[in-house]
Amino acid sequence: MRLIKISVLVAFLITTLSLVSYAQNTTAIDVQHYKFELTIADNTDTIKGTATISVKFLKHTRSIPLDLGSINSSGKSMQVINVTVGGKITSFEHSNDKLQVQLPVIAKAGDSQIVIIQYKGVPADGLIISKNLFNKRTFFGDNWPNRAHCWLPCNDIPADKASLEFIITAPAHYSIVSNGIQTEQRLLNDSLKLTHWKEDVLLPTKVMVIGAADFAVSDAGYAGTIPVTSWIYNEDKEQGFHDYAKAKDILKYFSTYIGPYGYKKLANVQSKTIFGGMENAGAIFYFEGSVSGNGRVEDLLAHEIAHQWFGDMVTETNFKHLWLSEGFATYLTDVYIESVYGTDSLRHRLIGERNKVIAFAEKSNAPVVDTTSDYMQLLNASSYQKGAWILHMLRNMVGDAVFKNIIREQYKKFAGKNASSEDFIATAEKVSHKKLQSFFKQWLYQPGIPVIAWKYNAVKKNVVITTVQQQKRSFSFPMEFLLVTEKGSFLKTIVVKSRSTIMSFPVKEKLLQVIPDPNCKLLWQQASGQ
Ligand SMILES: [Zn+2]
Repeated sequence: MRLIKISVLVAFLITTLSLVSYAQNTTAIDVQHYKFELTIADNTDTIKGTATISVKFLKHTRSIPLDLGSINSSGKSMQVINVTVGGKITSFEHSNDKLQVQLPVIAKAGDSQIVIIQYKGVPADGLIISKNLFNKRTFFGDNWPNRAHCWLPCNDIPADKASLEFIITAPAHYSIVSNGIQTEQRLLNDSLKLTHWKEDVLLPTKVMVIGAADFAVSDAGYAGTIPVTSWIYNEDKEQGFHDYAKAKDILKYFSTYIGPYGYKKLANVQSKTIFGGMENAGAIFYFEGSVSGNGRVEDLLAHEIAHQWFGDMVTETNFKHLWLSEGFATYLTDVYIESVYGTDSLRHRLIGERNKVIAFAEKSNAPVVDTTSDYMQLLNASSYQKGAWILHMLRNMVGDAVFKNIIREQYKKFAGKNASSEDFIATAEKVSHKKLQSFFKQWLYQPGIPVIAWKYNAVKKNVVITTVQQQKRSFSFPMEFLLVTEKGSFLKTIVVKSRSTIMSFPVKEKLLQVIPDPNCKLLWQQASGQ
């Protein structure tokens, strides 16, 4: 996802932190499929649900551990009405956002069961029921990182991916958008409409979604065989259709660069997500203000569309590997912008991203792979911009063609599955035939970036360049210097392997200037006072 203004995020952090920390990882089950039948209404925020969950057991167990919001300080919660397993009513315990469903008989590893949960309540979070900027009532799912359980009984972790369907009964004036394809829509009576969406590809809960609003819907065309649509508030439709139309070309670009798009359609949706954009699979939600009519959201569209490959199809095994989503989406956006607007645009973006990493490193000691259990803390320059810079340095090291093949291979191997940082390192080593462990280890697991003091001395047709790393732990990296002389300029590389490195190069002409990292290839900070 992409962040919106900081003030909004802070307000959001305060209201949701308690929820985020409650969902626990569960490894006893592997959910195969979710069918969520939900009724939403105009006169109440209470939703009524029936969740039919196909579960496979991974070990001997007496109960099915699920996540579902229980009573919290806001007073909003889901109340379970009854639960059946294999068609028989069973007992359950529902507290601390956990729903433990008792099994009639102990399940063995490899067994399967169908559990059906009837429930109702006002979601404390995860499904945003509110009014949009035109004062119209709307419903928008917003599950990241683990807020799905606030309105859906589920195994709310990125590692348990499942197919799903949403069957929504709503007042007939709403248009309903969701993951997958719409298989049915019919009026139940004069005022109620049923809409059925189904996704066969396995999704993590963080990108499962519904949206209900008075949308205007436009066909933006096809990217290959994939239909691309724009879902815009009626009042905003002309501007929105214009702003979101670029999505088709972006989808085409990534389908060529990375590999085939994984889902059957792409809907781009104006919404009430608390993020700038949220990469729900096949149904991306963008913040309301993204619609302006001036078409300035191209890089936001690109970021969320890139997530369809990395984040959605290839999902991090857990949130400590978030850079595999956010660093990838950030850098693939850079690559897309470079393809459309040229190398100078890439360079401009990289400098901006590097500045964000520098600012972050000055106040935080967190590495990219960060084990914090406060997932909201991970929405930082380490996951996004430093992750992107690691990919940029990898690309410089292996070359454009090999880099592209690494990205393609990672997608091919893990599409529909989960991957860790170690999985990506293995892919990069395999495709490049290079040993990359130490490169990744220092950038992913070591906090900070190189802070370099450098100087040069031109003596007797030689230039001596000295670099000194000032940060806590030293890094190894190649660093380019451009030597500008009276008769032209040339590039020299210093391989920095220790805290202080001294190299000398011959110069025939009078040296006018030395420029460090002239091609913006290194994530570094110039020591202060230089
Ligand atoms: Zn993102």
